[in-house]
Amino acid sequence: MVSRIELYKNCVRKLNSYGITDAEFDAMCIFQDVFRERNPLFKPNEDVDSPHIYKIYDDIGFRCDGKPLQYILGVWDFWKYTFRVGEGVLIPRPDTETLIENVLDTVKKNQIKAPKILDLCSGSGCIAITLDKELFDSAVYAVENSDKAFEYLEENIKLNNSGVTAVKADALVPGNADKYGDFDIIVSNPPYLTADEMNSLQKEVQAEPAEALFGGKDGLDFYRKITPIWKNSLKTGGFFCYEFGMGQDSAVGEILKQNGFDILKFSQDGGGIIRTVTAKKTEDNNG
Ligand code: GLN
Repeated sequence: MVSRIELYKNCVRKLNSYGITDAEFDAMCIFQDVFRERNPLFKPNEDVDSPHIYKIYDDIGFRCDGKPLQYILGVWDFWKYTFRVGEGVLIPRPDTETLIENVLDTVKKNQIKAPKILDLCSGSGCIAITLDKELFDSAVYAVENSDKAFEYLEENIKLNNSGVTAVKADALVPGNADKYGDFDIIVSNPPYLTADEMNSLQKEVQAEPAEALFGGKDGLDFYRKITPIWKNSLKTGGFFCYEFGMGQDSAVGEILKQNGFDILKFSQDGGGIIRTVTAKKTEDNNG
């Protein structure tokens, strides 16, 4: 027999011995998930039955092997909402909440009524779905090409009772943009890691799909391709909001300028890294 608190301490010890940095947090999340309780240590001396012990040791084992906690739990929170995640889809990051703030801010400042928004490389749909939930009378489209990620996107739309329209398409194929037009805002968190960064990924990030991470040798391929392809789907006076990696701000800004956009602002994420850009399609650019 083992009590909850003994089991919890064993798990933290095991995670620590495998070099997992947030051992206590991870063990607690796994306990909450397995017991389906908010405070699983409320009765610390209660004995744990075998099925629960096996399930907990399985999950702790996966975590020690470097499987992301989010994939083990199968869900993760972003903004005010919960999203299903698992192998084949990028895990929503807190950094990306900066992009949400930019879009909400842009809609508010420009008093855009019934905003029509397009999210490219949508993945789990965390950006598209959050915007759809937060913006009154919005019409949000989410474009995703990966089979696996698209399944998560559709599932997350249902899970959150959202009205997002999921579009299975490759954002890098010019013809795909021709079918969509008149957007107020195009938003994207495309793959942007460089070849060097891909070679030194943390074990957990290696478990995520490379196609959602790798942005070509210098990490900028998607910005170079997406901007000219999709700018014609944006209204004149409409906005592009991009997330990018550390140090990519001026290069992404340059790509937008070359495509006839005015840079309105760069924004920092919670960690103080310049993470997003908001740019406006100027009057004389009908592309
Ligand atoms: N922010 C992610 C990371 O650093 C990368 C996501 C992306 O390429 N869009 O792992």
